[in-house]
Amino acid sequence: MKKLSALVSDFDDTLFFNKTALVSAAKDLCDIILGGEKRSDEDYKTLNDLEITIGEGKPPKGFSKKWKSQLYTLAYVKYSGKLLPNEPLIKYFNGALNEGNELIILSARGEEFRKQTEELLNLYELKYNKVLLPENHELKDEEWKLLEIKKLSKEYAHLVLFEDKEENIRYIINNLKSNNIEFYLVNKAIITCINY
Ligand SMILES: [Mg+2]
Repeated sequence: MKKLSALVSDFDDTLFFNKTALVSAAKDLCDIILGGEKRSDEDYKTLNDLEITIGEGKPPKGFSKKWKSQLYTLAYVKYSGKLLPNEPLIKYFNGALNEGNELIILSARGEEFRKQTEELLNLYELKYNKVLLPENHELKDEEWKLLEIKKLSKEYAHLVLFEDKEENIRYIINNLKSNNIEFYLVNKAIITCINY
């Protein structure tokens, strides 16, 4: 028999805001590149993209693959303590859990950050049931999420998805014909229902 209902939440910029951590990580990477002996054209482009990251709190599209995992490792490990909780959402989830729903954290940040991810959830006393993270980064984030949601939709009678990226929600809606999923776009404390 299918289990009743699960809330499925993204982690970064949905449950926890990572902007401050990413800015600190980007500053560190600038120092590393500037401290290097010789700089390639690619390094200059990365420096430029890191300036954008520092200004906007997120890396621009086309950010260097070579430096990407270093940027996120610094942000999620060294600066994990700088991630700030989305308190209204955490409060809402804990209330929903008391009513018998399950909570699944679905994040593309990767298995390599499981320890830091669970530490933050525990620190803010969020009573999740499980944390799903990809083993590798072969699939695009939205493709991996779609596969996981497909699996969950077979396991649960009803799913409620929370995510900060509207393009991820649209991708899942367009590729998964299912009437047992509700989608909510999270923009800090503002939560908007996205319809099919
Ligand atoms: Mg996110």
